[in-house]
Amino acid sequence: MSRCAYCKKEGASKKTAVHFWIQNRQKIKELDYCSEACKQKIHKFAVLQKTNANRFTGFVLLWMIAALIIPLALKTITGNPIFFPVGALAMLGILGLIITIYPLGLSTNTKLVEKIGIKYMAFYFRITGILLVVSAFVMIKDRI
Ligand SMILES: [Zn+2]
Repeated sequence: MSRCAYCKKEGASKKTAVHFWIQNRQKIKELDYCSEACKQKIHKFAVLQKTNANRFTGFVLLWMIAALIIPLALKTITGNPIFFPVGALAMLGILGLIITIYPLGLSTNTKLVEKIGIKYMAFYFRITGILLVVSAFVMIKDRI
């Protein structure tokens, strides 16, 4: 019995072809879906995945540089060493916020999609994002 690629419900009898971007190559995948609503969400995800997969490495790199430079700059400008850990944690918190708001925006892992379904992956990312925000907030609070 095939399961819906979005909600993982059983008995998804219809198939839809989507373009996924896997290891720098565009591939067409046939995914099962159970309802018109799920089909639309699958396609929305595929578009998102395609746009973001190419940018993913660049984004991570930029993020790491920004997460290092912004706190360092704050520390240098203000002369207050507290800005380094606080700034770095704030960057982590912002990353968590982005993941919470756009849980699928950075997901390039199509294997995980097939395993747990798009819906649960979004849920899982959202939880991770919230945890990041909360832990960054708690750690910042401890330092100031
Ligand atoms: Zn479904």
